[in-house]
Amino acid sequence: MTASDEKKVLGTVHPQLFIGGDWRDAEGGKTFGVEDPSTGANLIDVADASVADGKAAIDAAVAVQDEWAATAPRDRGEILRGAFELITEQVDELALLMTLEMGKPIKESKAEIAYASEFFRWFAEEAVRISGRYSVAPNGATRLLTLKQPVGPCLMITPWNFPMAMGTRKIGPAIAAGCTMVVKPAALTPLSMLRLGDILAEAGLPKGVLNIVTTTNTGPVMEPIIRDPRLRKLTFTGSTEVGRTLIAQSAEGILRVSMELGGNAPFLVFDDADLDKAVDGAMLAKMRNIGEACTAANRFIVHESVAEEFSTKLSARMAALTVGRGTDDGIDVGPLVEAKQRDKVAELVDDAVGKGAKALTGGTALEGDGYFYPPTVLTQVPDSARLRTEEIFGPVAPIFTFTDEAEALRMANDTEYGLVAYAFTQDYACAMRVYEALDTGMVGINQGIVSNPAAPFGGMKSSGFGREGGTEGIEEYLETKYVGLAF
Ligand code: NAD
Repeated sequence: MTASDEKKVLGTVHPQLFIGGDWRDAEGGKTFGVEDPSTGANLIDVADASVADGKAAIDAAVAVQDEWAATAPRDRGEILRGAFELITEQVDELALLMTLEMGKPIKESKAEIAYASEFFRWFAEEAVRISGRYSVAPNGATRLLTLKQPVGPCLMITPWNFPMAMGTRKIGPAIAAGCTMVVKPAALTPLSMLRLGDILAEAGLPKGVLNIVTTTNTGPVMEPIIRDPRLRKLTFTGSTEVGRTLIAQSAEGILRVSMELGGNAPFLVFDDADLDKAVDGAMLAKMRNIGEACTAANRFIVHESVAEEFSTKLSARMAALTVGRGTDDGIDVGPLVEAKQRDKVAELVDDAVGKGAKALTGGTALEGDGYFYPPTVLTQVPDSARLRTEEIFGPVAPIFTFTDEAEALRMANDTEYGLVAYAFTQDYACAMRVYEALDTGMVGINQGIVSNPAAPFGGMKSSGFGREGGTEGIEEYLETKYVGLAF
């Protein structure tokens, strides 16, 4: 990519607030800078919303809610389908934009965009399948009918790690269900979401259905918005810590809440596993998005008889990855999103090594511009290492060992989180036992990725509640209303 390609793609962004179908500056013309994590340079200045701007976005969403709810499901589906097509046509430009703001290699941005757009295609088809039921009450006299209706205006708060997909997973079902919305993307990576505003408008989304508000003054600006009694739902993807605060704030309005929070995924390798497949799966589960994924394998829990071979193979693959600016050709691993994130990863590795872990590869932050951390494999990791209980969010694979299935399950479930787990074994009875016993919302058996628009994505315990995707995903945006009918 040339500097002129980058300038051109940045020129496609409206760096403003998207309210009621118009692009506008923030109150007082305030802006904040979005930085390129591979250099630390400022890419573009974006509108920095105030509380009044946020309230204006809610005004716009509320104003069109009834009209939008009354549109034909097929029409809502067609808009989503049209947006899917537009995203697919523009994948090269969108991928460059995403790599600039977030850092991941272009090939990974393209993979995210494909995944993100699939939610629009999936929910385009779900829009026309919303239905209630008709049944005979137990007394035989009354008939019971249910109707599904949109919950109403939603607030959506998304993180920086998947700048488009974390939005489309919410926007797709909300559009299909007939809800209006205010979206607040992360201040580190707002550009992909701003482009999505244009794309949905071009696909025919009526003004006011989707509103986008960007801000750096997050807590003070968002709290009065969350407490606005006109909102009916809050859906949040981000850290468990912020999720807790938002659940408390949304209690006042009795908002319906969905929380997609942090993870600490175990990756189990049993002694009968196909080790090459397990290493392929480990690379995907660990290195997708440079490890900055809630689904990233955080703890490799490997049978003691195969741990050495697995560790050697994994570290050879990790060491062979090319680290560099995501826009350059042949790059496998880009920078972490910001200095704070890179420093946190370094701190967790230093803590583990200080307590006795050994780095088979990597282990030290890279010098120079940008927030690079090398792919790292740690063995002999003591239980007291912080990265056993904390989300690493970086390219670091700590390996622990177990002796039998019961111990593996105990270790896997020994975490406050419960988003996803992975298990590699050729024994399907073991696979099914493990699937049933793991305290996670999702399990990957012999595969290192679980994300799929047709499947219900979500967690248990401190990883949150609610599901995105699948046939379950649209339910989060629908109320069930029942009528009893006597003949
Ligand atoms: P974060 O919690 O810091 O921020 C997430 C979003 O919340 C951002 O838009 C941020 O601006 C906003 N926010 C922060 N404080 C707020 C406040 N007081 N009021 C209102 N909004 C506020 O998380 P992050 O660092 O952007 O993302 C990383 C985290 O997200 C990780 O813990 C990761 O596991 C989690 N995550 C979860 C999933 C999932 O589906 N379970 C997916 C991706 C990321």
